[in-house]
Amino acid sequence: MNREIDINKIEVVQNWPPNIEELKKHFPMEPGVIFAYKGKIYNPFNIEITLDLMIHEATHFEQQGEDTEGWYEKYINDKQFRFEQELQAYAAQYEFLETVVNNKILKTKLFTMAELLSGPLYGNMIPFEKAESAIRHYRKLEVRDLENEKNEKFN
Ligand SMILES: [Zn+2]
Repeated sequence: MNREIDINKIEVVQNWPPNIEELKKHFPMEPGVIFAYKGKIYNPFNIEITLDLMIHEATHFEQQGEDTEGWYEKYINDKQFRFEQELQAYAAQYEFLETVVNNKILKTKLFTMAELLSGPLYGNMIPFEKAESAIRHYRKLEVRDLENEKNEKFN
C-alpha cells in the first residue's frame, strides 16, 4: 500500500473518539485501546504511541479515506471487513518492525499483535495461530492471491 500519510503530522488527542458510544456497544474498551478517527489518533489512556502504532493507525486513515463514518459502520457490522482492515494494519506494522528491530523483539511483537488480532478486542475473529501466520505472510498472501487471479483469467 502506498503510504500517503505523513505520520509526523498525525495529531494525537488524549480523549475518546466522537463515536465512542456506538463503539462501546460492540467492543470491550480495554485499557490502552486507541482509535483512528478522521486523521486523528484518539488515545484516552495516554499510552505511548510508538512509530509502529502510528503506522498501524495511518493504515486505518488510508482505509477510511474521506468516509470515516461509513468505514466505521462497515467495520462494526461486517466481521470479514473488520478482519481484513485489521490484518492490513497489523501487517503494515509488522513490515515496518521487520526493518527496525532484532528477531527477538520482532517475535515478541508478533506474538502481541497476533494475540490482539485473534482476541476479544475485535470479537475473536480468528484463532491465534492463523492470526500470527497471516500477519507474517501477508505480502506473500497478496502475491499468491494475485497469481491465482491471473491464472484464472488465462485458464
Ligand atoms: Zn487497527
